[in-house]
Amino acid sequence: MNPYELDTKQLLSKFHTNKNGLSSKKAKRRLEEFGLNTIENEDKKNYIKEYLKQYIQFFAILLEVAALLSFIADHYVPDQGSDILGTAILAAVVINATFAFWQDYKADQAMEALLRLIPTLVNVKRDDEKVTLDASKLVPGDILIIEEGDKIAADAVIIENSSLYINTSALNGESKPSRRESENKKVKLPLEAKNMIFAGTTAVSGSAIAVVTATAHATQFGKIATLTKNVKKTITPIQKEIIRITQILTLIAVMMGIVFFILGIFSDRNILIASIFALSLIVANVPEGLMPTITLALSMASQRMAKRNALIKNLDSVQTLGSATVICTDKTGTLTKNEMTLKEIYLSSGEKITIEGVGYETKGVFRYENSNDRSKIRLENLLYAGLLNSRATIENGNFFGDPTELSIVAAAKKMGLDPKNYKKISENPFTGERKMMSSLYTTDKNEQILYIKGAPEVILQRSSSYIDKNSSIQTLDQKEKEKIKEQLDIFENNAYRVLAIGINSNNSEDDIVFLGLVAIMDLPRAEVKEALVQCAEAGIRTMMLTGDNHKTAAAVAKKIGLKYDKIVTGEEIAKFTDTELEEILKDNDILFARMESNQKLKIATALQKNGEVVAMTGDGVNDAPSLKRADIGIAMGQSGTEVAKEAADMILLDDNFRSIVAAIEEGRTVYFNIKKFVTYILSSNVPEIVPYILQFFFKIPLPLSVIQILSIDLGSDMLPGLALGSEKPEANIMKRPPVGKNEKILDWEVFKRGYFFIGLIEAAAAMAAFISFLLLHGWEYGVVDLNDPLLHRQAMTMTLLGAVTCQLFNAWTMRSWEYSAFSIGWNTNKLLLIAMGIEILWIWMLLNVESVQMIFNTAYVPMGDLWILLPFPIILFVSHELYKYRIRKKKNL
Ligand code: ATP
Repeated sequence: MNPYELDTKQLLSKFHTNKNGLSSKKAKRRLEEFGLNTIENEDKKNYIKEYLKQYIQFFAILLEVAALLSFIADHYVPDQGSDILGTAILAAVVINATFAFWQDYKADQAMEALLRLIPTLVNVKRDDEKVTLDASKLVPGDILIIEEGDKIAADAVIIENSSLYINTSALNGESKPSRRESENKKVKLPLEAKNMIFAGTTAVSGSAIAVVTATAHATQFGKIATLTKNVKKTITPIQKEIIRITQILTLIAVMMGIVFFILGIFSDRNILIASIFALSLIVANVPEGLMPTITLALSMASQRMAKRNALIKNLDSVQTLGSATVICTDKTGTLTKNEMTLKEIYLSSGEKITIEGVGYETKGVFRYENSNDRSKIRLENLLYAGLLNSRATIENGNFFGDPTELSIVAAAKKMGLDPKNYKKISENPFTGERKMMSSLYTTDKNEQILYIKGAPEVILQRSSSYIDKNSSIQTLDQKEKEKIKEQLDIFENNAYRVLAIGINSNNSEDDIVFLGLVAIMDLPRAEVKEALVQCAEAGIRTMMLTGDNHKTAAAVAKKIGLKYDKIVTGEEIAKFTDTELEEILKDNDILFARMESNQKLKIATALQKNGEVVAMTGDGVNDAPSLKRADIGIAMGQSGTEVAKEAADMILLDDNFRSIVAAIEEGRTVYFNIKKFVTYILSSNVPEIVPYILQFFFKIPLPLSVIQILSIDLGSDMLPGLALGSEKPEANIMKRPPVGKNEKILDWEVFKRGYFFIGLIEAAAAMAAFISFLLLHGWEYGVVDLNDPLLHRQAMTMTLLGAVTCQLFNAWTMRSWEYSAFSIGWNTNKLLLIAMGIEILWIWMLLNVESVQMIFNTAYVPMGDLWILLPFPIILFVSHELYKYRIRKKKNL
């Protein structure tokens, strides 16, 4: 018989378990027997294949053809060094393939490491205790406790059900929540069994207790997942942009190659030489390393973000973060600590009670004001009402459930209350819309009582009587209501979250007997104040969205230094038309109070319509649509439901507002870092091409050889480029406005600065070094073939060094895209320092090491000539710094 066809007793005995859960010993044995509850991605990357693929990339093929042609040339015209060229080109292919592969591999590893940081947690019963486990540790027979918002991590059969609805879209594409039942009707397939829940689905509302019947690949999801293991990764917009730009640049390069090939043939060059020449021009212009370097820069940024507690789920969000203009944040947990403590109580009979202690401590002293001899009993009654009407529990120092309720439970424990003689009959759960909840019990005196708690204005409106100081029930008239409201005002103005508690003996949520108010404190996070200042400086608007009353919201905002122009309540939002809301949000920073979570979607949409890039936080099931809608949906890692985490682009591991700001800082940083290294890489293309063009039109010897071009592209540019891609956030990065959402990373500015500004200076440097050196050594214009090969090699060395020394300084001035290079500490980028060291060593080797000279057509140049190189890097540095200064003036930075 299938597990879902068994009754509870049969089911428990089939899986050798009971309602109190497995013993940890048994669970351990089963884990060994059944293995971890994970679905392995069987389509693991074959890294050897990935590496070999690098050799059949367009760019690699070009080089391979060039190498082949060199060997053929050597065969027909030996002793011209074509064999060395061929070997060097092949070496370049290997270096490039290995570097590109390494970057891809690192990026992959970084992403995998990030995904591992998002564990799925589940609640189960083990050894008669409720425990929270990593979902991978679930075994058949485990008693699974499912609450709203949980991800269901194994197949299980329900044994207790409280209106559970699950979303099965991952299994069958059905997006409407599906109601679960305790009993099963006859079905053909397990997937149709209404008393089952399945791995890969989520609990949308309600709760249940279920017996795990299958884990890992034995689950229905596991069976499908193995079938669809070949799902292709989608390409992100930034990758698309890179592909587009690489294609355009490659096309230009190929066209230039063809033109020069034809010109070469017409100018009586050997066809082989002309083709090698054309191919090397193409190579010099193809931005081969862009894609892997950008992917690596993004994934490194996401790793840095993870270290700062912000987990990015897709690389694109890294970039979007840099453009965020508004943060819409929840209050509880994000701006405050989410350590709710019940501090004060007001009884309807007029007593005020202060409770000592912080957090969920279960010991503390109660101090009474205005009390009489029956006050303690009335306080007990109120706390009983709160305790019985809460889902949260404190068991052996472990806390489960909503912090607001936990604070009430903790206070009840401080009073030593024990509700074991009360039997729960039913519950009307709390929702943000109703702002109240109630639970029906049979008491120890065998009466039926409905316990009610909720937002004070909701409860007060439904209350018709109260308990007075003689413990008798009195009508709640207007005067009495005013008295309560006065106290409520005091609580709320002190930043307390306030709940009202009442009872009713007719199982009705109306005609409530009002018992009192409980005031709960949630302290602000100390670091939020500074983060808010940072946001303001960074041109990012921050708006708080809370379910709390506007007075509590205003008091909390004051405590943390959050500025706002207006307070708008959920009730008002409901009345606004979309255009009205857009209009209000245009010029005002709003504090949203008494919000319903489904209104967040409306706010996100209105802000987006106004052109804002919205980062929005959320934790509950109802937040999922707004998290999806926001440009960056941010879920809480600790207090968030699995559903919210799934819908989000980013998960805050510590739930802390400051981490959002840190992530934005990293997002902005990576945006500019990519610009920096692309510009850096593009700049050196110009001194590679210009000498060839000039050589064509003027009567001069060849200034730069093919292998020298490759040595720049695949040698000296690589490490500094990578280093620029990993620059740390600049001190000024959060003092500038957000990056415009339509500003592309690879915009005209990058090409203008790379090719037409810095590139031209570098080309001038290379050519000036070449020509001046020749002129100083007796060359006259018009002599194309030099008789002295050493002189030619020395002159070519000067060209090469002209470009390389400029790139050295380029890397330094490029460390900031807009700010002065001196605004960054000289030793904050270790990789760049290493790259510089290697570069200088490389220059020395080009000048002094014979084997290097042989391969790269260089020669020793005495100090007396090297000074020619000096002015250009300095000109480059100074003019780029001035250029940035002008940008700062223009943009008012
Ligand atoms: P925030 O993000 O600031 O925590 P929220 O949207 O989570 O706000 P809700 O949990 O919806 O706020 O709470 C709204 C109001 O409902 C609270 O001010 C409180 O008066 C009441 N309330 C909160 N939790 C409960 C609960 N478990 N039972 C009854 N009433 C509650």
